[in-house]
Amino acid sequence: MKDIVIIGAGPAGLSAAIYAVRAGHTVTVLEEFAYGGQIINTPEVENYPAVSTISGFEFSQNLYDQATALGAEVLYEKAEAIQEDGNVKVVVTGAGKHRAKAVIIANGARHRKLGVPGEDAFSGKGVSYCATCDGAFYKGKDVCIVGGGNTALEDALFLANNCKTVYLIHRRDAFRASKVTVDSVLARENIQVVYDSVVDAILGDGTVTGIAVSNVKTGRRSELSISGVFIAVGLQPENERFAGLVALSDGGYIAAGEDCKTSQAGIFVAGDTRSKAVRQLVTAASDGAVAAIEASNYINQSFIE
Ligand code: NAP
Repeated sequence: MKDIVIIGAGPAGLSAAIYAVRAGHTVTVLEEFAYGGQIINTPEVENYPAVSTISGFEFSQNLYDQATALGAEVLYEKAEAIQEDGNVKVVVTGAGKHRAKAVIIANGARHRKLGVPGEDAFSGKGVSYCATCDGAFYKGKDVCIVGGGNTALEDALFLANNCKTVYLIHRRDAFRASKVTVDSVLARENIQVVYDSVVDAILGDGTVTGIAVSNVKTGRRSELSISGVFIAVGLQPENERFAGLVALSDGGYIAAGEDCKTSQAGIFVAGDTRSKAVRQLVTAASDGAVAAIEASNYINQSFIE
């Protein structure tokens, strides 16, 4: 049995691993896909304190190397459920069961879908949720990006380096993204902002050829000819599998305050999957530290030998 099982090897989970092993605990981190989480797709991170600029990939690699060098074990297994056996937690994966004194859930969140006709049919054939991954395929072409948050606007800037025209489709006339990013977007000649508009359908014939758009204020409908549709309309947690054990908040996030304690003793939560106001790299790392320290305190109090 390990002291702590951490579900998710993103910034929150790996930060928790660093704090937990340095507190003297044995740690297994379970990761479904690849370590790094969402940040691995960010080309440039410029807002992590004391690191003026670093790629998301390098950041993830550094974090993974640090956690594993300190002694955390990372296994590539999907956590399907958490069960209890007395005061021991049992994390069930496709490969087996992992017993632990405490669990930290740090499984992040997934890309939200638009839910319009053509989205699924053209996924991978012109529809993408990752500009950094797929943007290079659209060199010299016209594309659109949907959304008004930091991801959409940063992706628009990234795409504008390669693409002919980038249409930024946003359902309102004000952006959620930070001012410095908005200003950069508005200053780019090959980014055309389409305000107050939603995508009604993604059009194509084998691959994407365009989108049908309507203006939510005027009701006017139009079509844009483009080769790629990038979708960046936020994140969605995937916590139904834990709902029987820990309380969820509106939107499916795991309910917990800044102490990262869930409704269930011995289960903690860190990062984007927690109910919180600010989802940033630095707050994910911060949550990881808090969750690990709280988990350590819990173990020290509940497992006296
Ligand atoms: P977000 O901040 O939640 O923004 C999602 C955007 O998509 C919003 O503008 C929203 O419109 C729009 N949207 C949502 N559902 C939609 C729908 N069905 N149709 C059309 N538009 C829809 O998501 P995010 O940009 O992925 O960012 C997630 C978190 O990561 C945020 O906390 C963000 O600040 C953070 N982040 C930070 C950085 C950075 O600091 N460098 C980079 C990337 C992400 P409304 O505005 O009208 O709601």
